[in-house]
Amino acid sequence: MKKTLTALCALLITASVAQAATPWQTIPQPIAGTPQSIGEFANGCIIGARPLPLDASGYQVMRTDQRRFFGHPDLIAFIQRLSGHTRQQGLGEVLVGDMGMAAGGRFSSGHASHQSGLDVDIWLQLPKQRWSQQMLLKPQPLDLVAADGKKVVARHWQPEIGSLIKLAAQDNDVTRIFVNPAIKQQLCTDAGSDRAWLRKVRPWFQHRAHMHVRLRCPAGSLQCADQPAPPPGDGCGAELQSWFAPPAPGSTPPVKREPPPLPSACQALLDNHQL
Ligand SMILES: [Zn+2]
Repeated sequence: MKKTLTALCALLITASVAQAATPWQTIPQPIAGTPQSIGEFANGCIIGARPLPLDASGYQVMRTDQRRFFGHPDLIAFIQRLSGHTRQQGLGEVLVGDMGMAAGGRFSSGHASHQSGLDVDIWLQLPKQRWSQQMLLKPQPLDLVAADGKKVVARHWQPEIGSLIKLAAQDNDVTRIFVNPAIKQQLCTDAGSDRAWLRKVRPWFQHRAHMHVRLRCPAGSLQCADQPAPPPGDGCGAELQSWFAPPAPGSTPPVKREPPPLPSACQALLDNHQL
């Protein structure tokens, strides 16, 4: 487990260091074809992605100028389902952040994953009034985590945020949701006896103002690599507490790692595009 964490952490760091443009950013429109998520979440691409409809009730899409609102049709359907439930429960408007680029692939900054059209960032704010276009283009994140990283900021935490995360976690297509450990801790405290959904909610670095939702590989995406299921249980015990402990003596910070080679189907897609 520790090893996987270190590797993933290295990927995150690599992604935040690498600011150079990637060839994926030069592909403006989805690649035509039957929808196929290819490769891993942090090393993949997508054929037949769809844009999330930007004009919709129940959710709003932020920073549309970055054109990161593409995904597998399963991801589009999930966002529509989630915002439908959120609406029914009167929780507020869902704010959709980054999904993926038109053909997926690696961003120049900000994310290691979101590459195969199955990841979406959803902000942990539920405005009751729709945001203006200007607010959506320059959204202000609400940092829910206290400076010590150990708890949420009480005046910012709303039960609706917990309900939103729970609704997402209960969705059958969702396999993992990443949130800051302090947010997971709050969910653990509030959950009561219905706790099975907590298994999918995973503590992770940052994620102080949004949750990152990841879907399972879609049926028919034969080259899509799923992750193993999270460990059994609600994940509220020792594993979560280890995030709050000081680093073990002698532990070294993760090293920068070069991105792995692309899956051949993704490389072929890039080569074709560049002809
Ligand atoms: Zn994300």
